[in-house]
Amino acid sequence: MTHKHYDMIAIGAGSGGLSAVERASEYGKKCAVIEMKTVGGTCVNVGCVPKKVMWYAANTAATINNASGFGFEIDKVGFSWKKLKQGRDNYIKGITTWYDGYLDSLGIDYIDGFGQLVDNNTVSINGQQITADHIVLSPGSTPFVPNIEGAELGITSDGFFELTGLPKKVAVVGGGFIAVELAGVLNALGSEVTIIIRSDNLLNSFDTMVVDTLTKEYQKQGITIVTNTSISKLDNSGGIHCNNKILKGFDEVIWAMGRSPMTNNIGLEAIGLTTDNKGFIQTDKYQQTNIKGIYALGDATGRAALTPVAIAAGRRLSDRLFNGMSDRHLNYDNIPSVVFSHPPIGTVGLTEKEARTQFKDIKVYQSNFTPMADALLEHQTQTALKLICTGADEKVIGCHIIGEGADEILQGFAVAIKMGATKSQLDDTVAIHPTSSEELVTMR
Ligand SMILES: Cc1cc2nc3c(=O)[nH]c(=O)nc-3n(C[C@H](O)[C@H](O)[C@H](O)COP(=O)(O)OP(=O)(O)OC[C@H]3O[C@@H](n4cnc5c(N)ncnc54)[C@H](O)[C@@H]3O)c2cc1C
Repeated sequence: MTHKHYDMIAIGAGSGGLSAVERASEYGKKCAVIEMKTVGGTCVNVGCVPKKVMWYAANTAATINNASGFGFEIDKVGFSWKKLKQGRDNYIKGITTWYDGYLDSLGIDYIDGFGQLVDNNTVSINGQQITADHIVLSPGSTPFVPNIEGAELGITSDGFFELTGLPKKVAVVGGGFIAVELAGVLNALGSEVTIIIRSDNLLNSFDTMVVDTLTKEYQKQGITIVTNTSISKLDNSGGIHCNNKILKGFDEVIWAMGRSPMTNNIGLEAIGLTTDNKGFIQTDKYQQTNIKGIYALGDATGRAALTPVAIAAGRRLSDRLFNGMSDRHLNYDNIPSVVFSHPPIGTVGLTEKEARTQFKDIKVYQSNFTPMADALLEHQTQTALKLICTGADEKVIGCHIIGEGADEILQGFAVAIKMGATKSQLDDTVAIHPTSSEELVTMR
């Protein structure tokens, strides 16, 4: 049987796979990308993009609520979830349609179906075989659902984006970034929200300053946070059975307890490719797996599950393979990230706790205040900023921000910190006034 041969094939047309073949094709290489669902993967279809649309909608609700502080008397005469969802779906359709033409223009073959490794150079898609010199595994991840009675009565973040109306009373189970983002959106749009977590804190891996501030803000906004709680069963009258009690009356339960890699049945065992005990693919710093010619990147590798991370790893891989940049790889240190909570969080580098375990001489600068945007409001939020520095030159090794604008403020500071900025260099930068971000160059 004849088959088509490529320079590179990617299994999974999400952020990682697309960026690897896109960059390779720019170097004149012939590529194919295999996708079993929709081009764009999680980020475009059920992740960053629809989530951010919902975050904007939630911010609009908050702005309307706050308008009276600035003298506007506004009657909220209705909110149409249906219209919002339609607009969001159309926007995403526009992106995925654009992708079709874009891949065509780059000469990349888009193959619809489930990709499976047959051997070190061969991939089968629903019975059809193709081969390549280089194969990129970028299958991403899927929401984890616990194996308990009634688990199927709950939905995941994927189901959240399918909701056709605003649920009245919702439980979000989990305390990671996706959980706090969905909880914040639903609360701002009018649901009664309960977050249920196994540990005693939201956002376990984040700096305590942002965790404490967000927890207080969410409680002030009316979100109930139930801690140290394990769920044993969901029943079909909206009951959540946990710790010998039943929390009652939920219209929706959203499982947001983490994500599992999509590495089942893709042929890893057939070629002896190594994963960890959760199924995440192991690679070296060059995204190289233990099998020559096979690489993995993005969420399926279990490191910093963020779109720009998958994109950066994919592009660097093709730069290395096809453009003679033999040491090109992604450095996973100092990756900035934002949580689109209400208010948002921006963070880069070490938390204070991590810094204190890794370095002896730590100096922490912190500032908490009510932002000017809220000065006239009845319901004020808090902004909190923290810089963590080390050494005689006070190199900045951590920056944490919670407050309006944190999502946009962080990127520039992340550049400075990646370049090794010291506290005195931040202090030498003239402030922009009046802003919240000026605190980061004036803290004493
Ligand atoms: C609700 C939510 C919000 C998020 N918000 C953000 C955010 O604000 N910012 C951010 O940076 N990140 C965010 N993320 C994370 C981000 O979406 C992921 O890190 C990113 O999409 C990972 O890219 P990837 O290429 O590894 O995988 P994916 O984008 O998941 O792509 C993998 C693709 O492979 C396909 N696939 C899997 N197996 C096969 C197979 N065998 N054959 C064919 N196709 C296959 C899948 O269908 C999927 O389309 C969010 C995620 C979620 C769930």
